[in-house]
Amino acid sequence: MKYHFEGCDLRYELELMCCHFFPGEKPVTEDDGKGLIKVERRPSSYAVTISKNGVCAFAECGFESFGDRLSQKRAESRAFKTAFYKAARGVTDISVPWGTLTGIRPSKPIEKLLTKYGREETERILENEYFTKPEKIRLGIETAEATLKARAEKRENGVSIYIGIPFCPTRCRYCSFVSQSIASAGALLSPYLDKLCEEIALRGKTVESLSLSPETLYIGGGTPAVLSGEEITRLFKAVDGAFSIDAFREITFEAGRPDCITEEKLKALAAFGKNIRISVNPQSLSDEVLKEAGRPHTAADYSKALSLVRDAGFENINSDVIAGLKGDTPESFEKTVSGLIEAEVPSITVHALCLKRAAFEKDFGEAAGVAAKMVNIAAEALYAAGYKPYYLYRQRNTAGNLENVGWAKKGGECLYNIYMMEDVETVLACGAGSVSKLHGAGGDRRVPNFKFPHEYLSNPLKDEEVFTSVLS
Ligand code: SF4
Repeated sequence: MKYHFEGCDLRYELELMCCHFFPGEKPVTEDDGKGLIKVERRPSSYAVTISKNGVCAFAECGFESFGDRLSQKRAESRAFKTAFYKAARGVTDISVPWGTLTGIRPSKPIEKLLTKYGREETERILENEYFTKPEKIRLGIETAEATLKARAEKRENGVSIYIGIPFCPTRCRYCSFVSQSIASAGALLSPYLDKLCEEIALRGKTVESLSLSPETLYIGGGTPAVLSGEEITRLFKAVDGAFSIDAFREITFEAGRPDCITEEKLKALAAFGKNIRISVNPQSLSDEVLKEAGRPHTAADYSKALSLVRDAGFENINSDVIAGLKGDTPESFEKTVSGLIEAEVPSITVHALCLKRAAFEKDFGEAAGVAAKMVNIAAEALYAAGYKPYYLYRQRNTAGNLENVGWAKKGGECLYNIYMMEDVETVLACGAGSVSKLHGAGGDRRVPNFKFPHEYLSNPLKDEEVFTSVLS
């Protein structure tokens, strides 16, 4: 779709709206024969005209004036999205369940509305002013309520720690992370662990010098279960030395692929507490879909891993699934979700596949439609089984810009996920590809580490001053 701005430049917002209404059609400055979007900023309104398939629609939405830049930007962005939404509805009948809530974290504005107006009025505003559909209103409100609860219950001066193990036994076909396969980068794992332990010790000093209170620890991947029992022990000893394991309210070990989980590794973990939350991620319970995805394990391996985890004494278990995997259908996806519900895992995280548009070409819209159906199937089944959504985010380029949702039975929620996603408290991150998110007297700042293990290994670790300058 060709676009033309007059008196404004809202390229980012335009891309988000196009992603919803015209999936697979990138807004471009040259005429590509797919239609025209004209956006005009008037003194106190945005006017949007969209022409497509011989139909032309126009809409205008006003905005108030504010003294500060940020409030002004927000008001204008909202006016543009509202005008775009109304004009787009005139040229396409595509369903956009979140309405104009197009951001990465749709529950963020909902949290603000809830705090200001309460639930009933928030529901009314979301329906009438953001054009959000009832099922997404419920999802957004329940997620925002979980965040408000987490904010109210968090420790003063709390800090969360993230530790990244960006290695996997092999690469899945759909992988969009920086994780390295053991075949290509296995030799780096041992020196990586050395350096990681060094960084953990440094962040322990940061926490101590700033009198921060460790709250949650998340060991994520990649596939942290690529570590041997001995390596797991070494990693946890490093964490214990730096922060004291007992100081954490919550510890998650995202073991990952079921076929990497062994009794030996679980025994090593159990030595540090059986209340560790363990993620065993099948992604699908269809062996055909798993094969197509390049994951060399089966649904039976998932059941076996689950038994091993439970036999080792762990009860707080999460399992991830992905909606939109190649070869999956709404029917087989439904079986996956009901399989996890039957397995009685207290937490189930439903991700929407991050699709590369180029790989799908003309089929992108269709793939997005199937994934949307799967996400709805999961929501219905999980609500019916007593799970509630507690965290939610979107990645750009997910199929149909769908949401990833963490669902949990009471007590199965992962506090780290809420804290990190909703910027509830500082996250200090260790390891390649990880990003610290600092919130302190010096403002908010993201501090990324080097992306790949080889860069992480060949560069110095971040200076303490980077952290203390923001957090002191
Ligand atoms: S397990 Fe996850 S991080 Fe590892 S290759 Fe597969 S998708 Fe990528």
